Amino acid sequence: MLFDIGSQEEPDTRPPDQCEPGDIALKSFFLGPQSENADWFGEVFNGVLTAYFSWRRRMYQHDGTAISDGDIQTPQFQRRRRQMIAQMQQLLQRFEGEVPKFSPRYIGHMFSETSLPAMIGHVITLLHNPNNVSGEASRVGVQIEREAVEELAGMLGFDEGQPRGHFTSGGTVANFEAMVRARRRMERFIATGARARSEGLDESTLFEAAHMGWERYDELYDQLGDDTDLSAFWPTEDNPYRVAARINSCFGTDYQGPVVLVPAHKHYSWTKGVQLTGLGAEAFWTVDLNEQGMVCIDSLTERIEQARQQQRPVMMVVSVAGTTELGTFDPIDRIQQVLDDYRSRHGVDIYHHVDAAYGGFFAANVCGDTDSCNLGDGVCRAIEAIPRANSVTLDPHKLGYVPYASGAFVCADAREYFANDIDAPYVAFEPERDPGPQTIEGSRSAAGAVATWLTARTVGLNSDGYGRILRRTLRARQRLEAELNHLNTPVRIIPSQSNILSFCIARDDESLSETNRRTQRIYEAFSPQRNGEFFVSKTTLRRSEYRQLIESFVQRWDGQFDEDQLVLIRLCVMNPFIDSRETNTNFPRAFARAVERQVMGTF
Ligand SMILES: *Cc1c(COP(=O)(O)O)cnc(C)c1O
Repeated sequence: MLFDIGSQEEPDTRPPDQCEPGDIALKSFFLGPQSENADWFGEVFNGVLTAYFSWRRRMYQHDGTAISDGDIQTPQFQRRRRQMIAQMQQLLQRFEGEVPKFSPRYIGHMFSETSLPAMIGHVITLLHNPNNVSGEASRVGVQIEREAVEELAGMLGFDEGQPRGHFTSGGTVANFEAMVRARRRMERFIATGARARSEGLDESTLFEAAHMGWERYDELYDQLGDDTDLSAFWPTEDNPYRVAARINSCFGTDYQGPVVLVPAHKHYSWTKGVQLTGLGAEAFWTVDLNEQGMVCIDSLTERIEQARQQQRPVMMVVSVAGTTELGTFDPIDRIQQVLDDYRSRHGVDIYHHVDAAYGGFFAANVCGDTDSCNLGDGVCRAIEAIPRANSVTLDPHKLGYVPYASGAFVCADAREYFANDIDAPYVAFEPERDPGPQTIEGSRSAAGAVATWLTARTVGLNSDGYGRILRRTLRARQRLEAELNHLNTPVRIIPSQSNILSFCIARDDESLSETNRRTQRIYEAFSPQRNGEFFVSKTTLRRSEYRQLIESFVQRWDGQFDEDQLVLIRLCVMNPFIDSRETNTNFPRAFARAVERQVMGTF
């Protein structure tokens, strides 16, 4: 046996006023702010190296060695080795200038500690270096990736078996994967509808054809026969401009192309996606936000109706679980209900993608089975509705506490996942096994998948594992909020739905420019450019995007609108140790005091 994992018993030996056993168990998942777990984790790390070295030795042991002890003793060898070590030491020193993301004092962007199982998963993968483009280049890696996708799909509540997906470098690429799928589906429907219409088999309008759904598609496909060539009506299989002309004459329309309905609080990856897919900025139709900064259902319906009147296919509707700016959850259940109604009432089937890059891990039964749920009802309903959508983006490298690069794309329906029909002459792709033809990326590390897999199997994507960690972060956010509210300073906090806390400090009646200047000052004091007392991030809400939220928020102190944006300090409260009882520092209180010191003299 490589590792002695000790007894499995867990006697309750805690002294009074200490953490609960479940919380103590979590302490084994992170290194700890002062590297408290260094000793045993160092041994585990060495054990991994030993096992790997030994595997290599056993593999083709009769081949003999290529590097002798004599070689190692030569001056050339020794000189090179010294050089490597010297450079490495310099590098280590340079990295001492890195952002100390592990510290509970880091409450800036969407990262903090990485978990120990994730690190070990990463290192093991690094050593073996599988390329998850195909099973030819990765025997074990692709299997683990598949299992990791199943773990994530299970956490989100998808049915077993159907969902397909893969790991990406992050949420951005996962969102592109969704765009590619939604576009393929729409183009397939339009091409099939056009072909059927040109053969007198169907009379649908362009909008109806674009949203025919798989049932109607299958019927038409049967009638057309499986050797029908659809490329004449398929923009990405032919020439998009010529195809548009053919679509026009077939449907008797003036085809303006599809639209994508994205909320105003979208992540900027969607802007990139629209540029990459060549749809044009105009095709990007914004759905308005309500007073809470979430998708406004009326605006969504209006947009769909507008598209229908203009015969513009809705390529996809995007909603967000945990926005990048405020951590807000769109009413995914109500959005899906609107789309379900379109399907049942009008036969209009619209693709729905949930960008859950940040908030997806809250599906790890954060509410638990207790009534001490720290997420609101609306958030729980939104999370429960995720498996009703067509696809989802998740970022294990955010609330999964997995190292970069680890994003994931999960698609509810295998048919929608397998969108591409691509071949490479030098890779023997097997469609069921190999991600290669279906992924935007080519060569891909298995590390993000393996790291996620090992955390899923150890921390657990459930109420007792991630659920418990994330509950702690929600509690820490509440404590920070309470400490800020306690100050003799007018702190204005945006009501938060998750573990992101955004605030500014504003006197009654003062102008927004004055408030924004103060926020900028706080940001600079806790900026990532230097090691101050704390690290924060900031975000800017524009009135053009967050009009209702900003207006009602600023009204609370009768702020004067001399600028069209509101700058906020944004805290991503992710570190599992912020509200530890054992540390010498009460971080929430220390932070509030530090803020107060910074704003003194600005009133
Ligand atoms: C972080 C984030 C993304 C982008 O993910 P990356 O991993 O940075 O590429 C997309 N959408 C949302 C909502 C995010 O929070």
